[in-house]
Amino acid sequence: MVKIKVLNRSWSIVLRSDKAHERRFPDCHAVAILDDRKIHVRRSSLNITTISHELIHAYQHELSFFELELDDEQTSEWFAELFAKYGEQIIKDARLICQQLA
Ligand SMILES: [Zn+2]
Repeated sequence: MVKIKVLNRSWSIVLRSDKAHERRFPDCHAVAILDDRKIHVRRSSLNITTISHELIHAYQHELSFFELELDDEQTSEWFAELFAKYGEQIIKDARLICQQLA
């Protein structure tokens, strides 16, 4: 397990074997449990794309995206702004997480 900060809140990334992960989460190779601030990922899906994807869900949670009820245009702007502000940090963190869990 590794811990990182997402907007000053602590998140854990939990890596399990494919078998152990699939017992718990049969439908997804990686998942962010928002209320626990935990990202669960199976061994064979440990890569920068998957971790970045889950980190974006963490940012969505911390920035209250799910409560905003934005329309399509606003959603498009929201993601453009997320990437502009935090894209570099997200990729950097994803790289670090992959290195530390490898
Ligand atoms: Zn997703």
